[in-house]
Amino acid sequence: METMAQIKARLHAMPRVSLGFYPTPLHCLETVSREHQVNVYIKREDFSGISLFGGNKVRKLEYLLGSAKEKGCDTVVTYGATQSNHAMETATAARRCGMHPVLFLVSLVAEQEEIRANLLLDTILGAEVHVFSALLGESMDDVFVRCQPQIDARISELTKEGHQVYDMPSGGSNEIGILGYADAFVEIMEQFGAMGIHPDAIFTATGTGGTLAGLAAGKALTGETVDLIGVQVSPKNQDAYKKEISDLANCALDVIGAKERVTPELFSCDGRYYMPGYEIPNPAANDDIRYLARTEGLFSDPVYSGKAFHGMMERIRNGEIQKGSNVVFLHTGGTTALFSEPEIVGDLAEKNKRN
Ligand SMILES: *Cc1c(COP(=O)(O)O)cnc(C)c1O
Repeated sequence: METMAQIKARLHAMPRVSLGFYPTPLHCLETVSREHQVNVYIKREDFSGISLFGGNKVRKLEYLLGSAKEKGCDTVVTYGATQSNHAMETATAARRCGMHPVLFLVSLVAEQEEIRANLLLDTILGAEVHVFSALLGESMDDVFVRCQPQIDARISELTKEGHQVYDMPSGGSNEIGILGYADAFVEIMEQFGAMGIHPDAIFTATGTGGTLAGLAAGKALTGETVDLIGVQVSPKNQDAYKKEISDLANCALDVIGAKERVTPELFSCDGRYYMPGYEIPNPAANDDIRYLARTEGLFSDPVYSGKAFHGMMERIRNGEIQKGSNVVFLHTGGTTALFSEPEIVGDLAEKNKRN
């Protein structure tokens, strides 16, 4: 087993650009911990920078845009929902690196007259935005399959114009991007090490699975024993999803020439808290968004971090997490969703809602 310093050197030998302010803060949620007799820590990936609206995509983008720069690319293409945090963070990071951002976005909610939240930020950043509307019953993946010819046509046009295009998957979740979360895992362990505390579990929202895959790669590299729990924000076939995540983690380990392997036993996925679906608020999760705000003065969002925080709190309340444990909530950002379409915000906008 390599030392933390050797693991970091291995990761940092990859092409990278510096975008965020790391290490991000790690602190205790005093009131939540006292009320539940569990030591709850929060890792502030929502505080990553570069702009006020950072989040978990920034670490991935440090490696992705590092690779884009090394290949001499001047244009970055990526995909997501219209309110995608990844798309907005990509546009931000691309501008920082002097590159042209091109976003292919799927509108899952009814289109609004006003441009809000991340789509507003994409507009201010001057990203080239292409929006495809989902037809009734279509998933985001279905829309991308249907619209692939239009996407290919635009990319070949850009190439013909002389641009070098760097094409990134949604969520920045490939074997390059997820190295950022192997990095984050090492950072978390070092922060706890300095406090003389061993964390028992790390909770994160999981969507494309890249963040969880990166954390799992970090766990395999370091041989640490902490539980990794991904709270799903969308429905997934558990076996297929876990295999996809371990395969992705192993590709990343291959990229850095590490021999350690990630197996599906190294992490878990919890599909109990995303209902009714992606970008559709869960009323109980919204209750916990209010709880976190009213106990700690912290904001989380209805699409990702609020559902993940809720999943962790439910496990604490129902005794799946033992009293006295040390648990970590990875705050992945996403709070711009609080300013998005009413269908995404749900009952958070209701006055006098009590918990
Ligand atoms: C993208 C995102 C996630 C999920 O990360 P994945 O790597 O796609 O699983 C979680 N929280 C927020 C706020 C995000 O934007």
